[in-house]
Amino acid sequence: MRTTDSRGVLMVVSGPAGVGKGTICDEVARMMPDVFLSVSATSRPPRKGEIDGVHYFFKTTSEFEEMIKNGELLEYNRYVNGNYYGTPAAPCDEHIKNGDSVILEIDVEGGRQVKQKRPRTVMVFVVPPTFCELERRLRGRKTETEEDILSRLERAKVEFNLASDYDYIVVNDTVENAAEKIKAIIEAEKCKTLRCLDFICRHITDE
Ligand code: 5GP
Repeated sequence: MRTTDSRGVLMVVSGPAGVGKGTICDEVARMMPDVFLSVSATSRPPRKGEIDGVHYFFKTTSEFEEMIKNGELLEYNRYVNGNYYGTPAAPCDEHIKNGDSVILEIDVEGGRQVKQKRPRTVMVFVVPPTFCELERRLRGRKTETEEDILSRLERAKVEFNLASDYDYIVVNDTVENAAEKIKAIIEAEKCKTLRCLDFICRHITDE
């Protein structure tokens, strides 16, 4: 059934490092061909195997600052390592206009900025089944030092407190379950009354 608001859903997915946001979002995009995963811009140099325009849009610091100045970013953050990360607004807006839904996998601070600029953004926070499970996953990645792991666990506790600002909490018990839930959220958001008002009005007038 066609409603008049054919725009896609803009969704922010946040959650503590190691919770598996990336894998879940990849699975959602695989299940839903009309879902586009936003590619962030960053001023950090590419790691081995990373491709410009696929993993990130790699920019110099001055190029990134130019993007900020020109208002090209939906949100951005500069982390302690001095590197900028941000979401280019134009590709997101274009996809939404064309009816595709867009997922931004970003931190809580970035999510807050997006919600301010685009108030209809759907906010999803991914949590592990237990805190112990998060620690087990972080250790299992074998990519972080002990100091890194402890600092990420500390940050996760702080972020958990901010989860109450989000619209939905999705528990990552299995990737399939979590991805199914996000798919259901996107579909439910498209059925929101606010998006269907024109359709309802036309229906009433037809009778
Ligand atoms: P990495 O350098 O390991 O790829 O990413 C470092 C951090 O940057 C991660 O915590 C990631 O969530 C964050 N990040 C990646 N893209 C964006 C973005 O577009 N905006 C914001 N605010 N953070 C991002």
